[in-house]
Amino acid sequence: MIVPIELENRKKITYDITIDALPQLTFDTKVAVVTNPTVAGYHLQTLLAHIDAPQLEVITVPDGEEYKKLETVETILNELFEHKFDRKSLLIAFGGGVIGDMTGFTASLYQRGIDFIQIPTTLLSQVDASVGGKTGVNNKYGKNLIGAFYQPRAVYIDPAFLKTLPEREFAAGVAEIVKMAVMFDRDYFEFLVEADLRDEEVLKETIRRSVELKAWVVNQDEKEAGIRAVLNYGHTFGHVVENETNYTTYLHGEAVAIGMVMANALAVELGLMSEAEAERVKALLEKSSLPTSYEIRDVDDFYEHFFLDKKSANNSIKFILPQGIGGHKIVKDIDESVVKNVLRSFGA
Ligand code: NAD
Ligand code: MG
Repeated sequence: MIVPIELENRKKITYDITIDALPQLTFDTKVAVVTNPTVAGYHLQTLLAHIDAPQLEVITVPDGEEYKKLETVETILNELFEHKFDRKSLLIAFGGGVIGDMTGFTASLYQRGIDFIQIPTTLLSQVDASVGGKTGVNNKYGKNLIGAFYQPRAVYIDPAFLKTLPEREFAAGVAEIVKMAVMFDRDYFEFLVEADLRDEEVLKETIRRSVELKAWVVNQDEKEAGIRAVLNYGHTFGHVVENETNYTTYLHGEAVAIGMVMANALAVELGLMSEAEAERVKALLEKSSLPTSYEIRDVDDFYEHFFLDKKSANNSIKFILPQGIGGHKIVKDIDESVVKNVLRSFGA
């Protein structure tokens, strides 16, 4: 016997991503802002001045990727119970991608799911992490292995928050922007080559175009069954670089920058991209103060590391490669010797 379930409320999820000065936000429910001491120190006063709610709590968790874990989620959940939050209550993620991912995941869990809003404060979270509804935490088996697809009710992106962001963190966000342009949009790449991101209007335009691209991808493929995987360009190599350097030498975006240079070298080898185009991407990364070189000490070791990546299903590595600038191709089963030859060009 088969009992079909046909959920009527499977309606389309829609929400707006606003890129502008933070508006005044009024709620008729309890609200908790989840943030960390760094972000709170710079910007909490500003945020609180923009929120009206019958009850407003601030939950502060320690700053750092190492706190993006279940224990911290449980701490947040406990605070929500202490403050008698109900199913109509709302969370606001106020911080970078760590806060965003963790707050969204907590919202998905509290009493089986309450609303949340993203107010991202790093460039990376404004153009990448806050868009698309991937939420979650890390554990000892890897990054983001526990989580949920859980969309926010709204995203408010105010570039003014970026004024206090350290330069390296800013550059790390630019890496994900370059990634998007190289994979999907040649015009945007040309725009970035000319762009001075210290100019407020140019920065805002850059964020807008990146968010539009990411939204365009996610709207087609929320759960990464297809095109969303293209966003992993530079990440297959970048993860190995992060891993080999124990996640201490490079910020994620910096490792992705190196990873894109490596992916481009492979693309050149396979005739997908010209050497001149690879040089142009490298030049843009360098202009953005991102690292583009890395010394691979042991090519066999580096290659083995690909298989530890959760995205390398069934022992076949899926390489996300550029096809010229503005195009992409997913290539499987590249000959091991071809890949290793390319890796050797990054050797000592
Ligand atoms: P982060 O959240 O750790 O922020 C970086 C640092 O900047 C932190 O120390 C933070 O406290 C500080 N900071 C934040 N805003 C600031 C401001 N305005 N001024 C000064 N300092 C500020 O790192 P991130 O790069 O924003 O995000 C990385 C995380 O995002 C990773 O955990 C990654 O897995 C996740 N991520 C998720 C997605 C997704 O789709 N959900 C996509 C990309 C990355
Ligand atoms: Mg990334």
